[in-house]
Amino acid sequence: MRPSDLARAAFALPLALWTLPQTLVGLALVVLRAAQGAKLDLCAFGPFPFLVVHAPGPRCAGISLGVVVLASSPSILKHECSHLVTGLWLSWLYLPVYGLEYLCFGHDRSPHERLTCWLSERLPWRWRCARVGCEPRPR
Ligand SMILES: [Zn+2]
Repeated sequence: MRPSDLARAAFALPLALWTLPQTLVGLALVVLRAAQGAKLDLCAFGPFPFLVVHAPGPRCAGISLGVVVLASSPSILKHECSHLVTGLWLSWLYLPVYGLEYLCFGHDRSPHERLTCWLSERLPWRWRCARVGCEPRPR
């Protein structure tokens, strides 16, 4: 384990507490998807640790819930991980605010979603997983 991995692991608990409501929902989905046979990976996106479930979210290709990301394809992992940045701003208000935006504007037009798209195009970080062979492929 590298020193950066240790620092990231120590960062996981406060991060999970800061995003507790959505992380708990994410962990419930982890249990459900793991029981259905989905693969799980410990990954990192910049300084942030993630538990990645290689399976779609409920009625969507991917979803970011605190330190948990469900993604049907590695191609959407950077976008899903970028949701954590806005999740850090909103903390425990993330789910109510996102839900309200979703109801008012729909998924693609929600300000939160548009900000996440903007962030995912500009953040210099790449995601990587502890498991060999789970890295993003170079383009
Ligand atoms: Zn999104």
